[in-house]
Amino acid sequence: MAVFKKKEKIIIFIIFPILLYLLIVVLSNFIFFLSNDNTNYNKVNINVINNDTSSIEDTIIDNNSNSNVIENTFNNEENTIIDNKTNIKEEEIVKDEGNKKYISLTFDDGPSSNTIELVNLLESYNSSATFFMVGNRMKSRKEMVKAVYNSNSEVGSHSYSHKNMTKISEKEINYELNATNSIYHEITNDYLKLFRPPYGSYNEQLLHKDYIVVTWNVDTEDWKVKDRDKVYNHVIKNACDGCIVLMHEIHKPTIEAMKLIIPKLKEMNYEIVSVSKLMEIKNYTHNSNKVIRHMK
Ligand SMILES: [Zn+2]
Repeated sequence: MAVFKKKEKIIIFIIFPILLYLLIVVLSNFIFFLSNDNTNYNKVNINVINNDTSSIEDTIIDNNSNSNVIENTFNNEENTIIDNKTNIKEEEIVKDEGNKKYISLTFDDGPSSNTIELVNLLESYNSSATFFMVGNRMKSRKEMVKAVYNSNSEVGSHSYSHKNMTKISEKEINYELNATNSIYHEITNDYLKLFRPPYGSYNEQLLHKDYIVVTWNVDTEDWKVKDRDKVYNHVIKNACDGCIVLMHEIHKPTIEAMKLIIPKLKEMNYEIVSVSKLMEIKNYTHNSNKVIRHMK
């Protein structure tokens, strides 16, 4: 009988069986993978992608300056998830593309301590809105005016001291408009084009002042209800293609409602755009004798 040396004994009785065992494990896993259908494999994939998107979402909130780039990445990731789920969902997406709707959300009475939060929220969803600002509030909140001006959103005039335009003289109307435009020009080097009359009150005189007068067709009455869910429900129930919605940025529940309204409207296939962008998209030709209430 051959006598093995110590080295040979180790190879034959220890290393060889370990290698054989590992080979069997690898082969059995491979056979299991081949025999399993791809459904489970896809589920694993989706989980991995979901984890990625939540981390991207966190980054959006933390880093607003890069929000557009990150948001695009986030949307691409989201599409990948849906594509992986079922074919039916893919068909729904294609069908919805043709049904795109546009809505303008407008915020009166700012600038306020909520302006920056609201504008960043809109940016993070690649959306825009119109902020109708009061001239005498712009003076002490120049940074907020600039933040809106430098975003996708726009600033409109809401008079200098929030007076009812139908109850003051023409001279006073001119002052309310000019004083607001001059403070805005001082801040942005640009001029205001849209005017939202306080209380929605206007007369013939006001229509001939070289401003596009914009009111609304959906009134949330957020200043009265001051309730997140009521504001949210009102917007979602009354949303329509070409609608102009009235809200006020100075009320905190309105800002809270916006955090729900934007994703919900997006889910309903709405693009949220400023009044000027809505005019462009709808090819709206403005008649200076008319007030814009909506662009349905
Ligand atoms: Zn107002």
